[in-house]
Amino acid sequence: MNVCIHRLPREESIVSPSSHCPKCKKPIPWYDNIPLLSYIILEGKCRFCKEEISLRYFLVELSTAMFFLIFFNRFGLSLYFFSYAIFVCGLIVATFVDIQHRIIPDEISIGGIVVGFFFSAFRGLHLRPMSYELRPIFNSFLGIIIGGGIIWLTGFIFDLVYFKLLKKPPIQGETESMGGGDVKLLAMIGAFLGWKAVLVTFFIAPFLGAFVGIINLLIRKDHLIPYGPFLSLAAVVSIFWAEKILSIFLIH
Ligand SMILES: [Zn+2]
Repeated sequence: MNVCIHRLPREESIVSPSSHCPKCKKPIPWYDNIPLLSYIILEGKCRFCKEEISLRYFLVELSTAMFFLIFFNRFGLSLYFFSYAIFVCGLIVATFVDIQHRIIPDEISIGGIVVGFFFSAFRGLHLRPMSYELRPIFNSFLGIIIGGGIIWLTGFIFDLVYFKLLKKPPIQGETESMGGGDVKLLAMIGAFLGWKAVLVTFFIAPFLGAFVGIINLLIRKDHLIPYGPFLSLAAVVSIFWAEKILSIFLIH
């Protein structure tokens, strides 16, 4: 995943060449490529040229392990576990690429829509007795349409009012409040979680975003923050609490 985060936005192959230090170009031996441990043993520096290794590598490895453990605890070794594990990998890559480059690679979002849809389709298959339930695949399909649609519509209406009607100047050269990457990301979230949970995701992400946005505005005086990380975080919250949140608002 760290390889994806580094190479996808640079449009480099994620297969070759093998892992190497970006500064001294020396290939990284397998014993320096062990998740978490190598970073600690090397004290976050390249073995050869002592170039600092981004803390991101450690954070990605740690959060992946943490989420896998949480999902395993909750779902056991089930189809749900594998589905959510792959889902969270996509979200982590999207999050870190978005923070650094302000884009979400199509490989992740569109790829995720396809993978999420297939997992949902598979969920409808029951073996004993052999039967197929259409609800999960339909739910996923609605999730893609509603997830992508609602965020596109929000951006569209905001831009129309803010830039066209109120004639406000572009913010740091941007005249689009909601990037296409966010639309595809929420469609992917809908593919995995279905239409109800994607709506919950859509409604809680702004609260997470506003909190960080205000801090960001105070410290860095910067208006633009990537939205992908908040959608991703809200999606993980929805996996566990979407039903509960919906029941609070009397939607069963
Ligand atoms: Zn090096």
